[in-house]
Amino acid sequence: MKILFLDQSGKLGGAEISLTDVAKPYRDHCLVGLFADGAFKDLLEQQQIPVQVLTTEQINVRKESGIIQSLSSVGSLAPLIAKVAKLARDYDLIYANTQKALVVGAIASFLSRCPLVYHLRDILSPDHFSRTNRQIIVTLANNFASLVIANSQATRTAFVEAGGRHEIAEVVYNGFDPKLYQNNDFNRQQVRQELGINGQFLVGHFSRLSPWKGQHILLEALALCPDEVTAVFVGDALFGEQDYVQQLHQKVAELKLEERVRFLGFRGDIVRLMAACDLIAHTSTAPEPFGRVIVEAMLCRCPVVAAAAGGVVELVDIGKTGWLLSPGDSQQLAQIITTCRNQPQQAAMIADQAEIQAIQRFELTAINQQISQLLHRILEPSKIKR
Ligand code: UDP
Repeated sequence: MKILFLDQSGKLGGAEISLTDVAKPYRDHCLVGLFADGAFKDLLEQQQIPVQVLTTEQINVRKESGIIQSLSSVGSLAPLIAKVAKLARDYDLIYANTQKALVVGAIASFLSRCPLVYHLRDILSPDHFSRTNRQIIVTLANNFASLVIANSQATRTAFVEAGGRHEIAEVVYNGFDPKLYQNNDFNRQQVRQELGINGQFLVGHFSRLSPWKGQHILLEALALCPDEVTAVFVGDALFGEQDYVQQLHQKVAELKLEERVRFLGFRGDIVRLMAACDLIAHTSTAPEPFGRVIVEAMLCRCPVVAAAAGGVVELVDIGKTGWLLSPGDSQQLAQIITTCRNQPQQAAMIADQAEIQAIQRFELTAINQQISQLLHRILEPSKIKR
């Protein structure tokens, strides 16, 4: 099967890391078309997945854009759409991985008669999208996509509630290769030494820096915990959230946490860093569509506490495979951190169970198999190009 994958981002967010795993089995017969250059292209090249940057023009429509801005941007997309429609003639299907990729892919699919699949990795709620953009996404998906793959039940439900056709929407969780998350005590000691951790209880936060990812909630919780609780923030502001980064640093100073907090920026060695943590906190204040870091923490056998909204509640079995907190509740987070610190045996038992369950539910080969079956369902076997 020949697939033309489309993604608007050159940066490495969860959607892009996951697409790399989806595209890998097709790397002999696929192309990933990007609408920006950057680290994502480098990752695809490292994995020997064919990639082409299709445009370097900035697409000026944001998740919160209104109707005028959204419509005016469609005109400026014409050359890109024409390029994608031409490319698509050599492929069995167009696989759009982001909203702007959906806009381009939908029109290109219409022009080239190449079927369209949309991998929906966002919750279409007012928390994340303007009304106009929700309507555009749902209208394009309903009219042009043969299949919408939602990355959680929560994502699918929001799609249907926003007017999306339920009969084209299927849930497939992100897949992970458990072998890549095997950790050891050597890593743990080495990283703790690098971070200057000497006996403290270390809470890790692994997310791009963005207000809704709620790094400030962990800072507030930390101020309520004993001094020996420290935190490390891994991730960068990928989409221009520099004001928030400044606010975080101000908060560290206000709460006098300078000695207890480290910001490491974007890192490619997540697994090693997770090994050093005693607990991983996920603190999104708006519903998270999936939450890759939660499953990654489980596979690293690190206890995890996560904000109970969106797809997260499908990942964590309370008290059995992790802890849940009400989004934005720093006091509750402080209590959970304290419990986890005071009851290491219970925490270890929960982490063990979480690892077993994560391997059962999110194993990459099985997840890729689910996607393959869905793709075959929408294509006539005789028309598959390879
Ligand atoms: N990540 C990373 N380096 C960092 C921070 C995050 O490689 O410094 C990875 C993280 O391990 C996860 C992904 O980025 O696989 C983020 O996915 P998630 O679903 O948690 O959030 P998203 O960015 O998609 O909103």
